[in-house]
Amino acid sequence: MKKIGIIGGGFTGTMTAVHLIEKSAACDITIFNDASTFTRGTAYNPYSDKHLLNVITSKMSAYPGNSDHFLDWVMERPDFKNKDRKLIANAFMPRALYGKYLTEIWDNALSNNDGKCIVNVVNEQVTDIDVNESFITVTMDNGESMLFDYCVIASGNNVPRNPRIKSPEFYNSPNYFQNPWKEESVLNLTEKPVLIVGNGLTMVDTVVSLVEQDFKGAIYSISPNGFNILPHRHIGMKYSKLAEEIKEGMTLLELVSLANKHIKIAREYGFTAEPVIDSFRPYTQKIWHNFSDKEKSTFMSRLRHLWGTARHRIPLHSYEKLQKLEAEGKLHIHSGNLIDISENSNGIEVEYRDRNDGVIKTMVVGRIINCTGPESDFSKLESGFLKNCVENNILKQDALKLGIVTDIESYGIIGPDGKVYHNLFTIGGNLRGELWESTAVHDLREQAEKLSQSLASKVLSESAELIS
Ligand SMILES: Cc1cc2nc3c(=O)[nH]c(=O)nc-3n(C[C@H](O)[C@H](O)[C@H](O)COP(=O)(O)OP(=O)(O)OC[C@H]3O[C@@H](n4cnc5c(N)ncnc54)[C@H](O)[C@@H]3O)c2cc1C
Repeated sequence: MKKIGIIGGGFTGTMTAVHLIEKSAACDITIFNDASTFTRGTAYNPYSDKHLLNVITSKMSAYPGNSDHFLDWVMERPDFKNKDRKLIANAFMPRALYGKYLTEIWDNALSNNDGKCIVNVVNEQVTDIDVNESFITVTMDNGESMLFDYCVIASGNNVPRNPRIKSPEFYNSPNYFQNPWKEESVLNLTEKPVLIVGNGLTMVDTVVSLVEQDFKGAIYSISPNGFNILPHRHIGMKYSKLAEEIKEGMTLLELVSLANKHIKIAREYGFTAEPVIDSFRPYTQKIWHNFSDKEKSTFMSRLRHLWGTARHRIPLHSYEKLQKLEAEGKLHIHSGNLIDISENSNGIEVEYRDRNDGVIKTMVVGRIINCTGPESDFSKLESGFLKNCVENNILKQDALKLGIVTDIESYGIIGPDGKVYHNLFTIGGNLRGELWESTAVHDLREQAEKLSQSLASKVLSESAELIS
């Protein structure tokens, strides 16, 4: 029986295994993931019920071929049974509820397993892999190794990188929290102000949780561009005219002027840019894949921020909460760049250059929480599996260090020698270099389904060969 190892059991790894089980693929699957986050990963194992999905219920099905699967599941729950289906379809559910949904999908897959699949979950971190033509050796942090015929790297979101400052030794401080997705980042607070570095979606969750903890001190946040997150303002609104004009091989410049033309039209009728930018969605991956490295790099340096603002929006009521905190003088949002951080008996002194007036300023806080977002450059990770994979020449990163160089048809990883591995695959966030938008459930559910289909066919054809 063929052995498949899946490194990471968040949404992507779990759904790949679920599809293999549901397809009755005759194989032996092992998923490596910490027991506390298995099936939920980083995103759907939040420490607070107040951390919401940023995508509406009707768009969060885990199954590409059954778009109402999550909505149907929610409507069956006692809390929602008597609610208006259309309202719930357009609402933003807690991420913890989505985690329960994924766990239930997993449990159902196991209980309906017809026995053709053998399934193991190993509660260990993978530290290294070694690949040859016949098998892959997976080594765990307990020093033990296992052999597989195929492996899928579904490692997902890495912890944020420490921002560059003059005195990086500060990062050893117990008052610095590099991982904002852990509850300890908002526990045992004093009255001293808290600084959040980064003004993205995780900053919003962190502010919400500081308030939930009844934190009375001031909350500061800082990022080079300040806070530019928008609320969802046009739920259900579809703009279709732009798509009619997208042509294969358009350059970045041509696409920008196309977008500008349609944003102008939308604005004439009282709409904002978001529906126009959303209408790129079905084409984004292809467009990105066909861009030259120079175009990708120009996008990253000049347009990434604007794109992120238009694409990654939050529920209106979360947005209003932040506005209220700002108006009450509890939340202070800065745009600027960190210069240095040091700690003494007064607290943590943060030196930064204010982007508005260019002046170097100082603030004193009691704790710093890093909300700068998942790190994608493996060389910047302090240690770990992906960093080892690059150092050991198993895989390479794209020029912009967004992910792993991969053949997007088969999801086979392309080794440093340029050859596509027939037995080593990756999906999820590791495809950002190839596809740019490879983060949301919308993208990952198709990848998990497609990869499991091709793994199931491989397993089937090889078993048939053995029998004949
Ligand atoms: C805070 C947050 C909120 C989000 N909200 C939404 C949302 O509302 N809607 C949406 O569509 N998308 C959202 N996303 C995007 C999200 O990334 C995807 O939806 C999806 O959850 C990613 O799943 P994943 O399995 O690829 O990665 P992850 O969820 O990161 O899971 C990867 C798993 O692999 C494990 N792992 C990694 N390396 C190893 C190793 N070496 N050995 C063993 N285990 C390993 C990790 O511990 C983790 O459990 C959010 C992302 C974040 C970070």
